[in-house]
Amino acid sequence: KGKRAFIAGVADDNGYGWAIAKSLAAAGAEILVGTWVPALNIFESSLRRGKFDGSRILPDGSMMEITKVYPLDAVFDNPDEVPEDIKTNKRYAGSSKWTVQEVADSVKEDYGSIDILVHSLANGPEVTKPLLETSRNGYLAAISASSYSYVSLLKHFLPILNPGGSSISLTYIASERIIPGYGGGMSSAKAALESDTRVLAFEAGRKRKIRVNTISAGPLRSRAAKAIGFIDMMIDYSLANAPLQKELSAEEVGNAAAFLASPLASAITGTVLYVDNGLNAMGVGV
Ligand code: NAD
Repeated sequence: KGKRAFIAGVADDNGYGWAIAKSLAAAGAEILVGTWVPALNIFESSLRRGKFDGSRILPDGSMMEITKVYPLDAVFDNPDEVPEDIKTNKRYAGSSKWTVQEVADSVKEDYGSIDILVHSLANGPEVTKPLLETSRNGYLAAISASSYSYVSLLKHFLPILNPGGSSISLTYIASERIIPGYGGGMSSAKAALESDTRVLAFEAGRKRKIRVNTISAGPLRSRAAKAIGFIDMMIDYSLANAPLQKELSAEEVGNAAAFLASPLASAITGTVLYVDNGLNAMGVGV
C-alpha cells in the first residue's frame, strides 16, 4: 500500500519542501501539503494555472499530483491562540481551520492517517540582525516559527502517524558553527530544533514507533534564503570549499528525505543527516 505524506512549508516550486514532495511522490507516496496562509492564494492559483507544471515532472515522466493543499500557520496551535488582528486580517479571513490542531483534525477527517510528516518551514523576522542586536520578541518569534512549530506539528499529527512512520525537519549548520549573517535568533532556533530531534525521537519512538530525524542542508536559493540576503555568498563559499565542488540541488535533499522516510532507514532515528556536499566536515576554508 502506498504511503501518505504531509509536508508543511510548501508555497512555491523553489524550496526544499517542494523537492521533498517530488522525491516522495516519485517513490509512490500520496502528497498533502500545508501552505502558509498569507501565501496560499498565490500558490493555489499558480498551481491551477499550470505555472509549476514544468517542475511537477517526475523522473518517470509523470506529473506530481498534490492531493490537497491545507492552509497552515504553524505559529498557532488552536483557534484560542489567534489574536484578533490576525483573525480579521484580510489575508487570513478568507481561509479557515489553519491552526496546527485544526489542520491535523482536517487531515484525520479527510484521510484517517499519514505515514510521513515533513517540516520544511522557518521564519525569523529579525534574521538580518546580528544576535547582539536581536530583540526579545524577534528571538522568540524565530523560535516559535522555526522550532516550536515542529514540536507542535509532531504532537498534533502523532496520533494519526502510522507506527513505523517517519518525521523529518530541515536544519542548518549555523546551529553549531558560527555563520555570521544568520541572525535574529535563527541560529538558536536551529540548535533547539536539532536538540528537540533527539528528545522527540525518544518520545515518539517509544509512544508510536515513529522515527524522527533532521536534515542539515547546504545552501539553496529558495525564497526564504533570498530574504536572508547572503545566499549567493554561501553558495559560492560551498563551491570553493566543500569536498564536492558542485552546486547543491534541492532534489538531492529531497532524495535524502525519501531515504529517511523509507524502510531502508528503519534503524535511523534522532540523527542530524548532513546533505551539504560535505561542507560540514571541513575545518578551514581552502
Ligand atoms: P522556502 O521559502 O521554500 O520554505 C519556507 C516556507 O516556510 C515557506 O513556504 C513559508 O511560506 C513557510 N512559512 C513561514 N512561516 C510559516 C508559518 N508560520 N506557518 C507555516 N508556514 C510558514 O525556503 P527553504 O529554504 O526551502 O526552507 C525550508 C527549510 O529548509 C527551512 O527550515 C529552512 O531553514 C531550511 N534550510 C534552508 C536552507 C537554504 O539554504 N535554503 C539551508 C538549510 C536549511
